[in-house]
Amino acid sequence: MNIILLGPPGAGKGTQAGHLVKARDMVQLSTGDMLREAKDSGTEMGNMVADVMARGDLVTDEIVIGLIREKLEGDNKGGFIFDGFPRTLEQADALGKLLDEAGQGIDAVIELKVNDEVLVDRIVGRAEDARKAGQPVRADDNAESLKIRLMAYYKQTSPLIGYYYAKDMLTSVNGLGTMAEVQAEIADLLDA
Ligand code: AMP
Repeated sequence: MNIILLGPPGAGKGTQAGHLVKARDMVQLSTGDMLREAKDSGTEMGNMVADVMARGDLVTDEIVIGLIREKLEGDNKGGFIFDGFPRTLEQADALGKLLDEAGQGIDAVIELKVNDEVLVDRIVGRAEDARKAGQPVRADDNAESLKIRLMAYYKQTSPLIGYYYAKDMLTSVNGLGTMAEVQAEIADLLDA
């Protein structure tokens, strides 16, 4: 079973994906994690995207589609969780095509619904927690980048809600619940 987790930054996509990896042996494909890895290991592509990411803008479709294409060739175990991808209509079309070619499909697109105040609190909180724990703070977890990330979400990613709704693939869960509540809602949906 392959699923897409859709939602703004701070909606809890990464947290829920992490749970599904453990609970259902699924494979998390987070383009954000892949890009951060490339940046941290100083690859040419990583250096190219570092500024764009720190600012909060989207990197090019070509780069992220390339990253996903590579991963689709690997083992998908209990299924792929697309986390933070697709983020544009072009990426969504490309993913549909790539999965089609691999004889696979998307079983569910799960939108995590939250409101903007919660996002700001969660992201600022995430940065504070990391700082207190002496862990590295994401370069884009600050108020300025967050505004740009939210704008990118509304301008470029939120049209995907209509896109997948029209394809009869969209389901929404309340992302404002506790981690366990959201987990349970997603589990019900996947087991239905
Ligand atoms: P995330 O960890 O999903 O919040 O992603 C962090 C940053 O990586 C984003 O703000 C973008 O700069 C970049 N990024 C991650 N996924 C994508 C994507 N699918 N398309 C374009 N840029 C992306």
